[in-house]
Amino acid sequence: MAELRYNPLIGDWVMIASHRQNRPQMPKDWCPFCPGEGKNVQDYDVLEYDNDFPALMLEPPMPDDVARGELFKTAPAAGKCEVILYSPKHTITLPELPLTHITKLVRLWQERFTALSREEKIKYVFLFENRGDVVGVTMPHPHGQIYGYSWVPLRVKRKLENSAAYFTKNGRCIYCDILKEEMADGRRIVFENSHFVGYLPFWTDYPYGISLQPKQHITNINDFTEDQTKSFAEALKYASGTLDALYNKPFPYMMCLYNAPVDGGDHGKHWHFHIEFFPPMRSDTKQKFNASSETGAWAACNPTAPEEKAAELREAYARFVKNAK
Ligand SMILES: [Zn+2]
Ligand SMILES: [Zn+2]
Repeated sequence: MAELRYNPLIGDWVMIASHRQNRPQMPKDWCPFCPGEGKNVQDYDVLEYDNDFPALMLEPPMPDDVARGELFKTAPAAGKCEVILYSPKHTITLPELPLTHITKLVRLWQERFTALSREEKIKYVFLFENRGDVVGVTMPHPHGQIYGYSWVPLRVKRKLENSAAYFTKNGRCIYCDILKEEMADGRRIVFENSHFVGYLPFWTDYPYGISLQPKQHITNINDFTEDQTKSFAEALKYASGTLDALYNKPFPYMMCLYNAPVDGGDHGKHWHFHIEFFPPMRSDTKQKFNASSETGAWAACNPTAPEEKAAELREAYARFVKNAK
């Protein structure tokens, strides 16, 4: 069964993908992402690989016969799920990759974003990486994913509405203004390079939830100039390397890239490309659980002071840069 079901109380779609339960148990010590293994993977630097058990498909099956009246709506699970392999090396991680290699990864993201934007059924292209056991990653081989959704998911929709409203009221981009304020305050800035700033947002609910944002107003990843693309690769290395330098070990995270929706709307003036990291730890060994308040009420709680955590992150960044040299 693969279909979308609508939750009219929340106003968003849920992907029902029961066929994903039937994924085969991988043999131990075997990796389908290593060069020469799996179905499609040959020799590569970076590679797009269609997800073998996708929750969303360009040619989805008809939903099961479960819809009923006004309240129980279904829709085909239209969209696409891709895997992005970062490197042929099985154990390397994002911050360990050379800059020239991360630049190749960014170019592949740009290509895939452009290609999926052109699919009529896709309204939002979501690039992300889950890293670490804590977020359910079983395959250490460095990889990210892309989901092309046939609707604009709720968190993105909310960001879109609020940035559009701010633009209507002030005539300026909310992200540009936020970065200006963060830079002026300075206490939550972690690093900056020629085109990007890494900072801990004023309101972050994740103790180490770094955001990454271009200094100039850029809407989408495929709008970067050559120079900005390289600077972005460097900023990615810095942000992920900073997290690893915190406790001198690979730090789990969810890394989410936010481009504008590709739903035909005119979002260029008020949508500003950005990344949010959601590391699910609040210290070396303590996990940050999203429990009843966070999950049931969507009332977030940060058990730490962002200004203190930003200072810690700045020190980790300094260690990372020193060791990388
Ligand atoms: Zn591998
Ligand atoms: Zn902006």
